[in-house]
Amino acid sequence: MSGTAYKTLLMAVDLSDESGDVAERAAALASANDATLHVIHVIEPLSFAYGGDIPMDFSGIQEEIHQQAKQQLASFASDCGIPEERQHIVLGRPEVEIHNMAEEVGADLIVVGSHGRYGLALLMGSTANGVLHGATCDVLAVRVGIDKS
Ligand code: AMP
Repeated sequence: MSGTAYKTLLMAVDLSDESGDVAERAAALASANDATLHVIHVIEPLSFAYGGDIPMDFSGIQEEIHQQAKQQLASFASDCGIPEERQHIVLGRPEVEIHNMAEEVGADLIVVGSHGRYGLALLMGSTANGVLHGATCDVLAVRVGIDKS
């Protein structure tokens, strides 16, 4: 195997239908490089969106969201052959937590989906852009969405 082959891949999934496209590419790359594949899903705390405005305790509903996401990720990851110890669910901001997890598992490639936005939508930012900025390893943006051609 070449010395430049990737050894540890981290794919980030939002658990939308498009996650299958990201997983397909990541799994193919992992297998071609004989690399270890991790998966991360980040849950954004409700308090980030509503914390300041609504005086409410979100912990119950937050826990329910966490459990549901965990189940969804487990079924998604097992379809891709990723064992439990390489399935990561974290609470926080996707870009930040994806970077942290990449460091934690020693990833040399992060795989994300990208809608290939342009113009105003691009200026408003996307997770793929956020992950690219400040990443300390390579980042692969897999084109997802209906307009792939
Ligand atoms: P976006 O452009 O923000 O819709 O996100 C595109 C890609 O970013 C997705 O295909 C995922 O790879 C990644 N992503 C977005 N949100 C999350 C999340 N909550 N957890 C993990 N990855 C995410």
